[in-house]
Amino acid sequence: MIELSKVASESTNVKTFIFDIDGVIRDVSGSYHRALADTVEYFTNSGFRPSHEEIDELKTEGLWNNDWEASQELIKRYFQELEKAVKIDYDDIVAFFQRRYRGMQSDWSDGYIATEPLIATTEYFQSLTRAGIGWGFFSGATRASAGYVLQRLQVVDPILVAMEDASGKPDPTGLLLAVKQIESKQEKSPNVVVYVGDTVADMLTVVKARDFEPNYQYFAIGVIPPHVTEDLRDRYAALLRENGADLVLNSVLELTPQLNLSQSLVS
Ligand SMILES: [Mg+2]
Repeated sequence: MIELSKVASESTNVKTFIFDIDGVIRDVSGSYHRALADTVEYFTNSGFRPSHEEIDELKTEGLWNNDWEASQELIKRYFQELEKAVKIDYDDIVAFFQRRYRGMQSDWSDGYIATEPLIATTEYFQSLTRAGIGWGFFSGATRASAGYVLQRLQVVDPILVAMEDASGKPDPTGLLLAVKQIESKQEKSPNVVVYVGDTVADMLTVVKARDFEPNYQYFAIGVIPPHVTEDLRDRYAALLRENGADLVLNSVLELTPQLNLSQSLVS
C-alpha cells in the first residue's frame, strides 16, 4: 500500500530541475582549479600552490563558492600563517585569475575555459524537455562563463541565474529566482524542486530554501565532481550528505527523468 501511494504521488508531481554548472555539467579541475592554483601561487611568490584536495577542503567550509574570493582567502591564510601582513588588491587577484581562465584572446580560445571537458550532453537536456521537466541553471560562475559552456552544449535561450543576478550560495534567492522563471514559462506550476550541485554550499542552499519558500518539496542532489579520485569519493559523498544531500550520484547523467526520487531516498 505504501509503495503504491508513493508511486502515485511521484507521477503526479511537476518537477523542476535546477543545475549548478561547475563540477556538474563541466569539469573545472583543469580550468577554475588550475586558475585558482596559479593565482595563489603567483601572489604568494611561489610559496604555496593549492592541490585539488586543498581547494576542496576550503570549499567544505561552505562559504568559498566564488573562486576569486577563494583565491584571496588562500593567499590571506598563507601569509597569516607566516605572520606577515601583506595587502593584495582584490581587483588584481580577479584580473590575474581572469587572464588565466579566459586567456588573452577575445574569443577565450587561449584560456583554460576552452579546454573544459563537458560532463552533461545536449541529448541529456533534450530528454528532460521530452519528459516535461522544466530545467535551468543557478551558478556562481559569471554570466559570460556560464553562457560559454551552455553554448557548447547547444542549450538555446537557457534559464540562467548567474553570479551577476543574485547573492552567492548558500543564499537560496538565486535558486528560487530560477524556479520562478521556469514557472512563468510553464502551464503547470512545479511542486517539486530538484537542485543538483557538487559542493557543500550547493546542499546548504537547498536546506535554506526549505525555510525561505516552503511551498515546494525539495530534493538536494549531490554529484561527485570528476576530479575527486576513487579513494576520496566515499568521503566526499558523506560530506555532501552531512550537509543536506538527499541523494549523491556519480554523475549528473544518472539523474534521469525516470529516476524515482522518493524511492531512491529510501533505498
Ligand atoms: Mg559547482
